[in-house]
Amino acid sequence: MRIALLFLLVGAPLAGVAAAETVTLRGAAQGTTYHIKYVVPTKAVDRARVQGDVESLLADIDRQMSTYRPDSEISRFNQAPADEWFPVSKAVVDVVIAAREISEKTGGAMDITVGPLVKLWHFGPTDRTKKNAAARLAKKFEPPTDEQIQNARTRIGYRQLNTRLDPPALRKQVAGLEVDLSSIASGYTIDHLADVLLKLGIKNYMVELGGEVRAGGKHEDGTPWRVAIERPTAGEPEMVTAVPLVNAALATAGGTHKFFEYQGHRYSHIIDPATGRPVEHALASVSVAADTCLEADGWDTPLLVLGPDRGIDCAEKNGLAAMFISHEDSGDSIKTTAAWQKRFGEVKIMDRSSQREQEH
Ligand code: FAD
Repeated sequence: MRIALLFLLVGAPLAGVAAAETVTLRGAAQGTTYHIKYVVPTKAVDRARVQGDVESLLADIDRQMSTYRPDSEISRFNQAPADEWFPVSKAVVDVVIAAREISEKTGGAMDITVGPLVKLWHFGPTDRTKKNAAARLAKKFEPPTDEQIQNARTRIGYRQLNTRLDPPALRKQVAGLEVDLSSIASGYTIDHLADVLLKLGIKNYMVELGGEVRAGGKHEDGTPWRVAIERPTAGEPEMVTAVPLVNAALATAGGTHKFFEYQGHRYSHIIDPATGRPVEHALASVSVAADTCLEADGWDTPLLVLGPDRGIDCAEKNGLAAMFISHEDSGDSIKTTAAWQKRFGEVKIMDRSSQREQEH
């Protein structure tokens, strides 16, 4: 989940430390881009082999979890009737179970069955058609009516979705229920990309997909990988702060980059399942750091849904390392949880000159 690019930074080389070779891989995946850097291990690995394994995993996950292709397991499940077990890969069930645990801890703010509402508000796969892109530009999208929202809500509710692990399958209890893993599956993907690297003996790496990041080990100069968090504004990218990531992940959710505008009002792609409407509050972005990207990516969206006060309370209650940026009349307000402060200390705001110096 992501608001935009997170800039990837490295520290200054340490004096006397011999630089190892770093390889960078880039490509397209999940409607966005990925970017992997790794330090070549002593027993060198063929770069083409690494890229091949990465692409193969991305293709598998796309076949399993994409709602952007009609033949994926999830898309076919979404078309399936109610009350019947529908076989899927274990990976899909694992992600659905992880999402459900977060749903329970957030009072339903995380809800992977929110798809019909996402579409009703002109986001998700249907948003990518040329016709819709033109409508968005021309500001022709209109908010749905209350009746349409209520109608869609009858098909939504994570508790109406059952999971089975052996053999892996999903079952919907209401007809028309759909699964949309967009809020969490990139985190799952990044963790498994990290596993691909580890299996090839690569211990020092940084994996980024659509702005979510996981880093293992250290950069080639011996310093930790550093990741910058972007200020949630629609204008020129501007970094707020940078944090070191050591065997950890960072994910950010925000509504600033994906929205539609109607009569001067902006509607975010993040939906509050409690109202059936896009979130509307001062909280502009939430970043979560965790040991896995599944956890970081799974939590950032519901914390954003919960808003500036309930979100931070929920994050504290669950011991999450989270940073909240709100747009207040007096300027941006940045709040962090105790676990964030323990992990990273106080937020050090970056000035523009240090951004330019460090950006890669
Ligand atoms: P996040 O904040 O991470 O998640 C927001 C998204 O989650 C919303 O857009 C909505 O779909 C959903 N959501 C909204 N509210 C809630 C809520 N309360 N609880 C749970 N979920 C909610 N995009 C393309 O354009 N083309 C593709 O081919 C494509 N393929 C993909 C394949 C896969 C396997 C996956 C996982 C995603 C794919 N995407 C594709 C989607 C895209 O890359 C992003 O994952 C998606 O747009 C949301 O990411 P985000 O980080 O911007 O938002």
